[in-house]
Amino acid sequence: MTRLRSGSATDIGRNPRRTINQDMVLEATGIYAVADGMGGHLGGEVASLTAIEALRANFSPADGPEGLERAIAAANEAVVAESSSNAELHDMGTTLAVVAVVDTADEELLAVANIGDSRIYLLRNGELSQLTDDHSLPEELFRRGQLTKAEAAIDPRRNIVTRVIGPSFGEGPDIQNLVPYVGDRILICSDGLYNEVEDDEIAATLRKIGDPTDAARSLVEQANAHGGGDNISVVIVDVVDDDGRAETASEVLADDPATTVSSPRRDRSGRRLEREREHESAPPDRSSMSGLMTSDQRNAELRRLARDDPSGKGDFWGEGDDSEIHVHEPSRRVTGRVVAFLLVLLLVLGGAAAAVGFYARGSYFVGLDEGRVAIFKGRPGGLLWFSPTVEERTTLTEAGVPPARKDDVASGHPVANLEEARTYVRNLEAIPGGVPSAPEETTTTPPAPATSTP
Ligand code: MG
Repeated sequence: MTRLRSGSATDIGRNPRRTINQDMVLEATGIYAVADGMGGHLGGEVASLTAIEALRANFSPADGPEGLERAIAAANEAVVAESSSNAELHDMGTTLAVVAVVDTADEELLAVANIGDSRIYLLRNGELSQLTDDHSLPEELFRRGQLTKAEAAIDPRRNIVTRVIGPSFGEGPDIQNLVPYVGDRILICSDGLYNEVEDDEIAATLRKIGDPTDAARSLVEQANAHGGGDNISVVIVDVVDDDGRAETASEVLADDPATTVSSPRRDRSGRRLEREREHESAPPDRSSMSGLMTSDQRNAELRRLARDDPSGKGDFWGEGDDSEIHVHEPSRRVTGRVVAFLLVLLLVLGGAAAAVGFYARGSYFVGLDEGRVAIFKGRPGGLLWFSPTVEERTTLTEAGVPPARKDDVASGHPVANLEEARTYVRNLEAIPGGVPSAPEETTTTPPAPATSTP
């Protein structure tokens, strides 16, 4: 017979805007829970109370883990019914984190269930581990690889929950089984604790204070000392008798020379007890639970929630009586594809710049520089950031340019290449003061004698 000992504490916190404690704790024989209500001034309190009462009324250890799942579904129905009967409560909901003793064919186990962002931790052999996944937007994004754990922990959207008892039940709770051993200490808490107190502080307190009620009170005090921004609820459950399971496991370990102390524990028949480590190696296979979504459906649902509903309200649930919810597009990480696109873009832009430069700097014109005719490299007037430069100066003055060519030269006469520019200049020099009757400055014109007329 598994024997448990428990203690709990709950507090409104230190936030002056929170005038009601909307958290609710349950400590009954064989079932322990924390509910964190949300939705309106009164709604959160009604939701958490309704859920806890319905859970307790519908749970029986003899029904096994499936019975706990049904009891949570009943709690959801009770909250939905209550909210639809009262317009003031229409948007209420609550998290629910539950630990319950359940009978299976072989043995008594602990069923660990969670919906929302309250948490369940296990302290075993002095090590604290989180058994549950938060159903909050940042944590969902973390599980999809779009945020790191550290980013999720401080994300401003962490008060947005994606699944709760009430209006957004979705795929329901995550449920897993835990094989209890003497000395195990289980912590159930609302986010008012873990948002204020770091995991290592929580672990230190759980290791240090033996009495579960004293330990629960100490954790609440620490949360308040760190600010107490939210209601704080803590339930601690200690395994004080596991029906000899730990002792038997030790004997089996001692009898097996190939097994070290750190190897998986075994049950009475020597069978390896892998289930106890499920939470460390892999999340529970949600798709195998009856009535739950596949992972693809879950991802599609999350995409819809996160992107397609810009208002966010009605789909996401914000805790707190005065919090405004804004759902943002999930932040994108810089991927390899983005980098490749930027590189191609840079290459295209670089190529375009080179082509412009070639065109601007690869041509010539004849113009005036400080009163004298000169051959310039570039385009008359310049192009973009390419300014023309003087390639060759001549001795022909502006006054010596034939009148019919003065405007042409003043505005810059474009030519194809340097040789054509020299030809054009020689033609200008060949007809001082004259007016050419034909465009003899073209490249086909044979060079005229180069006479200098200073
Ligand atoms: Mg809370």
